[in-house]
Amino acid sequence: KQFRDGLEKTRKGFVEKVADLITRRKKIDEEFYEELEEILIGADVGVNTVMTLVEELRAEVKKQRIEDAAELRPILSGKLMDLLRGDDDNSLKENPDGITVILFVGVNGVGKTTTIGKLAHRYKQEGKKVLLAAGDTFRAGAIEQLEVWGQRAGVDVIKQNPGSDPAAVMYDAVQAAKQRNVDILICDTAGRLQNKSNLMEELNKIFRVIQREIPSAPHEVLMVLDATTGQNALTQAKLFGEKSGVTGLVLTKLDGTAKGGIVVAIRQEMNLPVKLVGLGEKMEDLQPFDSQQFVHALFA
Ligand code: GDP
Repeated sequence: KQFRDGLEKTRKGFVEKVADLITRRKKIDEEFYEELEEILIGADVGVNTVMTLVEELRAEVKKQRIEDAAELRPILSGKLMDLLRGDDDNSLKENPDGITVILFVGVNGVGKTTTIGKLAHRYKQEGKKVLLAAGDTFRAGAIEQLEVWGQRAGVDVIKQNPGSDPAAVMYDAVQAAKQRNVDILICDTAGRLQNKSNLMEELNKIFRVIQREIPSAPHEVLMVLDATTGQNALTQAKLFGEKSGVTGLVLTKLDGTAKGGIVVAIRQEMNLPVKLVGLGEKMEDLQPFDSQQFVHALFA
């Protein structure tokens, strides 16, 4: 249900356009394929993926000798499901012998703090003891903002003064987590992607500090991407994602865009799973990503 509501815009802006095309044209000819391509590209599925997808549809139409466009709908949803598959392990890894450390990275404004708050809430609902670390000491307001979410979720925040060394905050946070018998430690980090090498150094230092205390940590490094920025999100992910120890992606604000096809593009072009999706601004509006649910919510 949450997927259905959250994907309303994409359903209207993408799937209903396909439905309309099918009723309007009925026949599968060149113009049909062209219009279909336009709709898919408009939904941010990504040009390369669209080309492959439409080639496969053509092949299927030939093979099954399909004439009625209406028969394409289930084939299209099936193909989209295939493209998204591989994401089905959306579970977040946990440390079986102690504190699970989850690190968040992402450019400012993508919804990183909100996602941390939502995830803290989710774990808390599961009965876990959660602690937050205010590792974005760079951006004005980041610490307070995290505290607001901490209060909302009923979770403590470990912080230092703005401008302090993020690695020192992490050290404090790990110590506090140990003392307080915490299950899940969620760490915010600075979102200065424009300064990539500094950020990498900062991240590496954070990794080292955490690993000295908990060798198997961090158990997840989640990169947050804003779905409403479409292909830009993909560019960010490519620039930063695969080399920096990122283990999974979070796609926020899917409720705010008609271009939910970006999930397909990211899946195709990145070797990283989409683990969580943001479907609204409220604490409950975070869901594990499930390709089947996603496609069902769009097409059912
Ligand atoms: P940060 O700078 O990356 O920490 O971004 P914030 O967490 O402050 O979020 C930026 C804005 O995006 C805020 O207004 C949030 O309410 C909004 N936001 C975050 N996630 C979602 C989401 O899944 N859906 C919607 N509609 N808004 C979101």
